[in-house]
Amino acid sequence: MYDGLPTPGRNDECWCGSGKKYKKCHLSFDERLEALYEAGEEVPPRDLLKTAEDIAGVKHSAEVNIGVLDYVAERIGPGVTTEQIDQWVHDYTVEHDAIPAPLNYEGFPKSVCTSVNEVVCHGIPSSDEVLKEGDIVNVDCSTIRDGYFSDSSRMFCIGEVSPEAADLVRVTKEAVEEGLKAVKPWGHLGDVGAVVNEYAKAHGYSVVREFGGHGIGLEFHEDPFVSFVTEPGTGPIMVPGLMFTIEPMINAGAQEIDMSDPNGWTVRTEDRSLTAQWEVQLVITEDGYELLSW
Ligand SMILES: [Zn+2]
Repeated sequence: MYDGLPTPGRNDECWCGSGKKYKKCHLSFDERLEALYEAGEEVPPRDLLKTAEDIAGVKHSAEVNIGVLDYVAERIGPGVTTEQIDQWVHDYTVEHDAIPAPLNYEGFPKSVCTSVNEVVCHGIPSSDEVLKEGDIVNVDCSTIRDGYFSDSSRMFCIGEVSPEAADLVRVTKEAVEEGLKAVKPWGHLGDVGAVVNEYAKAHGYSVVREFGGHGIGLEFHEDPFVSFVTEPGTGPIMVPGLMFTIEPMINAGAQEIDMSDPNGWTVRTEDRSLTAQWEVQLVITEDGYELLSW
């Protein structure tokens, strides 16, 4: 097969864990993948495709991932420090038999990313950073439970924010919703990014190129990279079982970013314009997709 992975005999057990014979399970599915590959399409290797057991594990993880963001939503406001948010995320996660995935990930020092105003992503929580009326902040939570990864982020408006900030936060959420409409089994992943990019540009915004979504499930970051500056009809095929995030970073100003922060993590807009991001996690199904975390 195209992916170099072992393929069962016709009467052997299918690779997907269903317990059925291969010929009655994924044989014709695999033939479709092989044909797409022969036709020159980018086809994800089958070891990226999630089994029913994997999906159940991720949903169990996502219960905590969603729960922790709900917990933050009830408490965030003016006067809260981003350190306090980190403490909430850490404590809630471990109290629910899970692990905050960012903690010590490639040296990241905290349990969550908190990205305020012009911070595009990977803001590090700090007791010196006090949220004030008018701020917009992205809280990006990633959770490991029983070895399964879930990942989602939301924007929070602190008190009354400017109409410009409120519009950016709303349009960025809408861009994710528009992107979801382009998620179709056997379609091209580039269709999703194209829709997101068009939607952002139609509102006078720009989309960050260097960061995007990613495959996820058994690892924090799996293939494919999910860009939001793509052309329609390009990129990997959205094969049923493929699990990934949609998480565009949308800038009110220019798309260029500044990665010069000495902490090695925090990314800002180069022009210091406001930026926003929402993130959802989904899996492609036979007839559409299932949202797993948000
Ligand atoms: Zn199967």
